[in-house]
Amino acid sequence: QAKHDGKNRYCLFDANIKKIVSKRLQLEQDLRNAIGTDQLSLYYQPILELFTNSIVGLEALIRWEHPTEGFISPVEFIPIAEETGLIQEVGEKVVEMACQSLHEFSQISATESLYVNVNISAIQILSRTSDESIRKLIAKYKIDPSKLNAEITESILVEDFKAAIQFVQELKTIGMKVFLDDFGTGYSSLSYLHQFPFDLIKLDQSFIQSTSENNSNITLIESIGFLATNLGMDIVVEGIETEAQMMLAQNLNCRFGQGYLFAKPMPKHQLIKFVQEYATSTSFIN
Ligand code: C2E
Ligand code: MG
Ligand code: MG
Ligand code: MG
Repeated sequence: QAKHDGKNRYCLFDANIKKIVSKRLQLEQDLRNAIGTDQLSLYYQPILELFTNSIVGLEALIRWEHPTEGFISPVEFIPIAEETGLIQEVGEKVVEMACQSLHEFSQISATESLYVNVNISAIQILSRTSDESIRKLIAKYKIDPSKLNAEITESILVEDFKAAIQFVQELKTIGMKVFLDDFGTGYSSLSYLHQFPFDLIKLDQSFIQSTSENNSNITLIESIGFLATNLGMDIVVEGIETEAQMMLAQNLNCRFGQGYLFAKPMPKHQLIKFVQEYATSTSFIN
């Protein structure tokens, strides 16, 4: 009897695996087909200077609107793109869309000074093809390279330190700035910070969001802020959702912030409207 149950359970398990695998293969194929279509687009989320309350830049975040499944999170499909090598094409499209937008933003007074950050996956860096293509796109769209920034996560520092340094230096030679994304998650070590020519550090959202229940995190943010300032790097606090979190970030001398309190990521046309209205509404306050 026991043997029988075991076999049934095994079959059920097997059927589930099959379902997962075929769904995954289907997504992979769908993603391949989505590249170059308007299924893939960029949303933009404002980054603010906390002391002046002004929008200084934007983070470009990829969105995939699947024809039958609706929006699929980048948390789900970026890993698929990385494992299949599709990340090269996806990444290039992201930079191209960001350059197109930068060109458009440069012709609107409310958005002309804003920078745009693109996320660059560690896998892209390891296969070393991206700096040439970024150079070409900057030239093609006649972009001011100092307005285009790269966000890279610290996992690359662990995987291939030399390739990472080389890539960061190449981007800086082009004139771009480089942000260290999601700082404080997993691989973190304060000790490598000074070995890397990052311009800014983005403090992972888990820090600010855990401050109310855990006071030792306040000390930690303060220390990271102190270290960063001494290394000549500014900090962006990610994931600010409440007024209290914003005030705390200010008190800890973090210069920049990003989060739902200010704005959620939004499509380009909506972002332009948002920035235009924001500029006029805050000038009444100040
Ligand atoms: P990330 O680069 O750390 O981006 C920040 C994520 O936090 C975004 O999620 C954003 O929508 C979300 N967020 C912003 N403010 C708040 C807040 O106040 N509260 C909360 N709970 N969340 C907030 P999103 O857009 O789903 O992107 C998730 C991740 O997917 C990104 O994390 C990044 O690692 C990756 N990703 C997104 N776009 C791209 C891309 O174009 N290329 C690559 N390689 N990765 C991307
Ligand atoms: Mg990012
Ligand atoms: Mg981040
Ligand atoms: Mg993240």
